[in-house]
Amino acid sequence: MHTVSDYFGSLVFDDRVMRATLSADVYASLRKTIDEGLPLDSGVANAVAQAMKDWAVAHGATHFTHWFQPLTGITAEKHDSFISSSPDGSVIMEFSGKELIKGEPDASSFPSGGLRATFEARGYTAWDPTSYAFIKGKTLCIPTAFCSYGGQALDKKTPLLRSMEVLSRQALRILRLFGNTSARRVVSSVGPEQEYFLITREMYEKRPDLRFTGRTLFGARPPKGQELDDHYFGVIKPAVAAFMEDLNDELWKLGILAKTEHNEVAPAQHELAPIYTTTNIATDHNQLTMEIMQKVAARHGLVCLLHEKPFAGVNGSGKHNNWSIATDSGQNLLSPGETPYENAQFLLFLCAVIKAVDDYQDLLRLSVATAGNDHRLGANEAPPAVISMFLGDELNAVLEAIETDTPYAGTKRTLMKLGVDVLPRFRRDTTDRNRTSPFAFTGNKFEFRMLGSSNSIACANIMLNSAVAESLRIYADRLEKAEDFETALHDMIKKTIHDHRRIIFNGNGYDEAWIREATKERGLSNYRTTADCMPHLLDEKNVSMLTSLGVFSIDELVSRRDIMLENYCKSVEIEARTMTDMARTMIAPAIESYTAHLAGAASAKMTVTPDLMCRYESGLVRKLSVLVDDIAEKADALDSALVKLSEAEDILQESAMVRDSLLPAMTALRLPCDQAERLTARSFWPFPTYGDLLFGVS
Ligand code: ADP
Ligand code: MG
Repeated sequence: MHTVSDYFGSLVFDDRVMRATLSADVYASLRKTIDEGLPLDSGVANAVAQAMKDWAVAHGATHFTHWFQPLTGITAEKHDSFISSSPDGSVIMEFSGKELIKGEPDASSFPSGGLRATFEARGYTAWDPTSYAFIKGKTLCIPTAFCSYGGQALDKKTPLLRSMEVLSRQALRILRLFGNTSARRVVSSVGPEQEYFLITREMYEKRPDLRFTGRTLFGARPPKGQELDDHYFGVIKPAVAAFMEDLNDELWKLGILAKTEHNEVAPAQHELAPIYTTTNIATDHNQLTMEIMQKVAARHGLVCLLHEKPFAGVNGSGKHNNWSIATDSGQNLLSPGETPYENAQFLLFLCAVIKAVDDYQDLLRLSVATAGNDHRLGANEAPPAVISMFLGDELNAVLEAIETDTPYAGTKRTLMKLGVDVLPRFRRDTTDRNRTSPFAFTGNKFEFRMLGSSNSIACANIMLNSAVAESLRIYADRLEKAEDFETALHDMIKKTIHDHRRIIFNGNGYDEAWIREATKERGLSNYRTTADCMPHLLDEKNVSMLTSLGVFSIDELVSRRDIMLENYCKSVEIEARTMTDMARTMIAPAIESYTAHLAGAASAKMTVTPDLMCRYESGLVRKLSVLVDDIAEKADALDSALVKLSEAEDILQESAMVRDSLLPAMTALRLPCDQAERLTARSFWPFPTYGDLLFGVS
């Protein structure tokens, strides 16, 4: 009998395989590289490459690739085969340490935002030994970072690794102040919960909007949506269960700890959560998970939609980024401890996160910004674009007591003195189910809920790690100089709570009144769209923090802002072109056929019964004719808005035009089309409806 433990990780060159296939010396130096980031000498690299190749070939691999994450958000790979010719005409399978460590993809067509002139066509990929190599199909995939020859990062992994490094460095300074001399690293971990929709491939194929843009650009609401909440945690349908089973198998073979799966709130929506792991690996795993979801769906006659808002008026798909930081010995720094001293340390790390989220709201917001996620934030149970933090009643009461020097009701003693009093154990507040909070404390970790389902989790974690590292840096600078550590600590925690109280909000983030309070009274930022938030990447305070920590260079920041804005413009422009095309070549002709059919029916009836009024037909023909005129007009207006974009002087201006004129013109075109759908006979409508799509999987 084949059990999961037999094949879990069977396609991964993991620690078990390394131990079994490498000599003790080689294994020890590789381990040092993985654990401490020490460089690998070429002899060791050759030995590792040899073992990796033999293992991969034994598992059916013929090719290898450096697997990396360019700024497009997807992963890239270029396959090379292992074969080399031999003088006697046979082939041998070869793979050198050099090929393992460095690759040179012809990368001129990956976006670089001006960092790498196209004549200078090649960047290089560099092995990331902290993420295990794995086999996909017949290819050995080697996780790599992707840089230009000048050393500028062209990918998401490089800054993510840098951000993990700076967070570790600053957190260690704090731990030393608390007397911890043994920790050697502090590691951030993430468990990303991934939402997605499954629809049938047959229906997907019939909708150009889904095929070209990943979301529906038209579609009237079905009579039944998600109002009954009967899908959430409901019984999983057989076709979906078969998909999930197959998916789990594939993920487990790749060592991905897929753990839970359930139906989500919207019909056809589901969720997969892995067990959390080191951020870097969690990021690689999440990218792989998204890719494999789509592959496995195809095998089952399904399509997995990862778009943030595939259906208007129905819940969108997000990705909850459960984040915590722990020492290399496994002490979770966001978990309240057993002793008063541990509690003070916990409160300091908690404050570092509070300060980070308040000081860098804009960076967190823009780290999740895409055209798709703009539709999701603030709609149908997704958190709003305003960032706030949920701490729960108990923890909130503790902070309040500290800030105001008043007794905390939960302890027997009178005043809370840090480092003296024991904090209560925080129960997981039931209200953490409140999905409207963008950033919630859930007992021993934070859950950042603004990520879109298709986002790479790298971006959010780069910003989160960096911002928290910056808070810790400021704390450590002060505390290292303090004459009386405990007093300084107490004052600093108090001051943080006082200065950053505005970011803490335990109510309903979805309430209009909250958005008003947040922006008007608390001065929190509310960047509704990608075009609004992305320019702030280059705000002085952000550039200064990210460059002084060494997470990004200024050139890298400029290029990233430009690439993100370009992606935004391009995605919306493709949507706009798809809309005019569908409106003109599918929707309007369908309405015409149907009105002709109605008119024909009416005149046939009147031939037989001349005194008939045919009020039904003539009324409908009139309404549909008005709508089809409107559709033609709105399609022309959308075209003009598209043409006008060429007048933009730069990407900033273009993104503002996309936001201010293109998107509204798209909404204007959708309206009469959706109205016409409600009036047109189903047999005439040119593509599957929302009802077909959402309830089509059995
Ligand atoms: P839910 O949020 O649905 O109640 P859980 O809290 O069990 O579910 O976990 C959600 C995700 O958070 C999972 O991926 C889990 O592995 C992850 N997680 C749990 N503990 C931590 C932690 N200390 N750090 C980071 N992620 C964690
Ligand atoms: Mg959750």
